[in-house]
Amino acid sequence: MKTATRLAHAGRHPSAQHGMVNPPVYHASTVLFDSLAALEASSADPFAGIHYGRNGTPLQFNFENAVAELEGAYGAVATCSGLAAITIALFSVIESGSHLLVADNVYGPTRKVCESILRPLGVTTEYFDPTIDVKSLAQKFTSATRAVFLESPGSLTFEICDVPALADAAHAHDIPVMADNTWATPLYFRGLEHGVDISIHAATKYLVGHADAMLGVINCTEAHYMPVRRTMGLHGYCAGPDDIYLGLRGLRTLGQRLPIHQDNGLQLADWLAQQPAVSRVIHPARSDHPQHELWRRDFTGASGLFAVQLQPVSRAQIEALVDHLELFGLGFSWGGYESLILPVNPNASRSATRWHDNGPTLRIHAGLEDPEDLIADLEAGFKRLAATS
Ligand SMILES: *Cc1c(COP(=O)(O)O)cnc(C)c1O
Repeated sequence: MKTATRLAHAGRHPSAQHGMVNPPVYHASTVLFDSLAALEASSADPFAGIHYGRNGTPLQFNFENAVAELEGAYGAVATCSGLAAITIALFSVIESGSHLLVADNVYGPTRKVCESILRPLGVTTEYFDPTIDVKSLAQKFTSATRAVFLESPGSLTFEICDVPALADAAHAHDIPVMADNTWATPLYFRGLEHGVDISIHAATKYLVGHADAMLGVINCTEAHYMPVRRTMGLHGYCAGPDDIYLGLRGLRTLGQRLPIHQDNGLQLADWLAQQPAVSRVIHPARSDHPQHELWRRDFTGASGLFAVQLQPVSRAQIEALVDHLELFGLGFSWGGYESLILPVNPNASRSATRWHDNGPTLRIHAGLEDPEDLIADLEAGFKRLAATS
């Protein structure tokens, strides 16, 4: 089946749902068993089926199976947020004394998990340049290394990793590769086909797609599926039933939404590249991006998130630009139907490399609005910037 067909049909079984098109939401804690023997049988492996609300409901399994099908994973595990998905993936492979190799461009809170939660438990993290070559990465492996964690592209600075090459090197040492694949979604980067063992999504972003739920999902190879599932259940980071419903519903239109995010993003990027106040646009699908060729080789599309670096401008000029935009919201997250703009400071969450900027960096999420209206909004903003000192 083609992706568009899967998006319409995965994770629902109308004949088992009284003919209703969509699966029901199960609000559940207690699961009742017919007999003591049945209760004991279920308890032998509480993560194998329907056992207790925290360990999974039929709707959750529908959502997980749909996402796994889209990325070609053996199985998927849903969590209560994207950050919980990252935490669970890491906890599924570590023990005290473990060593992690984490790309320097990862989402800031991923680094905080490594530093504030894992380091005090005796798990050390070494950060590396996301554009590292295979040999240099291999030199960092130790007998305690339990994972290589990538984010390609990084969600502030948009470097693309050579995922298949890095994965080959890691696998040669039996080290699994995790990747935060939120930017591309399972549609535009099939992580498992490119050597990723655990592909992590903040479903909060494009899968939900409407800025109205927190949700994570972890796509796994067979070897990692049960360890991840158990770790999710043991930590109790289960996703809420209504949020899972919104995630499954979001999937139905993902194939229509993403190409619009992509087109709008590229139109905005092209327009921004011509503005005198912009020193460079950072978008993997543009030919001036340093790893554009890797993006072309491995990805089948681009989502709507990218960055621009401005010429040196004052704080007042930035405020003049962003404070009075009518369509671009000023706020965290992305992946919803609406456009966003956010001044970011990449060097605040880097340690192995330095992000070279001569002026402020703005991260832009292109929503589903008409691109002409979005450009008019930015145009007025850049006029205000130019009129301010
Ligand atoms: C937002 C985000 C997350 C975390 O997702 P939440 O659902 O907000 O916890 C993880 N990785 C990336 C790249 C993100 O943008």
